[in-house]
Amino acid sequence: MIVGIPKETVPGERRVALVPDLVPKLIQAHLEVYVELGAGTEAGYLDSSYLDKGARLAPEAFGVAEIVLKVQPPSFEEIEKLREGSVLIGFLQPYNNGPGIVALAERKVTAFAMEFMPRISRAQPMDALSAMSTVSGYKAVLLAASRLPKFFPMLMTAAGTVTPARVFIIGVGVAGLQAIGTAKRLGAVVEAYDTRPAVKEQVESLGAKFVELALDTKDAEDKSGYAKGQSEEFYKKQQEMMLKYMAAADVVITTALVPGQRAPILITEQMVRGMRPGSVIVDLAAEQGGNCALTEPGEEVVRFGVLILGPVNLPSTMPFHASQMYARNVTSFLLQLIKEGKIHLDLNDELIRGPLVTHQGEIVNEAIKTRLSAGIPVS
Ligand code: NAD
Repeated sequence: MIVGIPKETVPGERRVALVPDLVPKLIQAHLEVYVELGAGTEAGYLDSSYLDKGARLAPEAFGVAEIVLKVQPPSFEEIEKLREGSVLIGFLQPYNNGPGIVALAERKVTAFAMEFMPRISRAQPMDALSAMSTVSGYKAVLLAASRLPKFFPMLMTAAGTVTPARVFIIGVGVAGLQAIGTAKRLGAVVEAYDTRPAVKEQVESLGAKFVELALDTKDAEDKSGYAKGQSEEFYKKQQEMMLKYMAAADVVITTALVPGQRAPILITEQMVRGMRPGSVIVDLAAEQGGNCALTEPGEEVVRFGVLILGPVNLPSTMPFHASQMYARNVTSFLLQLIKEGKIHLDLNDELIRGPLVTHQGEIVNEAIKTRLSAGIPVS
């Protein structure tokens, strides 16, 4: 079977779904690999490197491939080019991409959304959300450090002592933990908060202080370790209690997400007003609407002297390693589907069933089906 690697076409996307080093793994599994010309160039992987590892180069990957590996969801034009009955593996943004999912079903594509990989230990090498969050958490700190008009570390110099920057991190999942580690390595004093009390130990093990807020968080976590949505009243109390930590911070990095929902607003205009001029907020939830009420996704704005960055697609700004990590995730998943060079779908296996969104002309994911039939906006 032929695996196709298209060049990503979403503006600003520099990642690629397969890196040359992983081509031999697919060939060993009796697959052929066709890479679209220039697919890896922006990530630092030249066509010649794919050739050296045994791939073929193709002017167009969709039409030839029975299996397509992608980073971004395909456009309608790309979906039309996919072969009927082919397999697609990639981020599909299933909660915001209703028309795309319907088009994939109509095209009879067997489409797997990397976002829906179950959080079971067998699936850890395939956990692309975590891999990309690692990149975002790291890069968020570098962005903040480069825009803060202060040092991060404490310095004792002949010109006097410089106090370290104070960083407050809201939401300590994978991105938040990476942000804590990176800010600590740069010498900042770091505090962090999450509604899931289970993360306290992880925060402390990285040398940061876990902020305790007197909120009822018994029901904060679902079975798979994700945060549950909370009431408006809860968020209001949380905002009030975080006010003093915001005011003391030079940098606030916010990563709080609830799967399938708009990101909760945790930073109000009043809280931004309470911060020192020159402070920086990096809102990693910008793509899901933002944790700060003043964030403009994809933009940077200054409000009340505070710089608010709402970066989207940070992983694409570090395309070499982001592609390497993502390629490992999708390749590990693809190899689970292959038996003797052929696709073999065990629909009773939660690892296969979980990310499966469309199959044989149907939308098979219950959450997406329910949303679409209830008319919940998915675009
Ligand atoms: P995420 O990206 O969905 O959310 C980021 C963080 O925001 C979460 O920690 C969440 O609790 C937090 N959050 C939500 N609402 C908040 C609020 N009001 N205030 C403060 N914080 C809020 O989460 P994630 O990074 O994907 O990770 C979630 C958990 O799952 C983590 O504990 C992570 O270690 C775990 N995890 C497990 C596996 C696995 O078992 N295979 C894989 C990856 C992650």
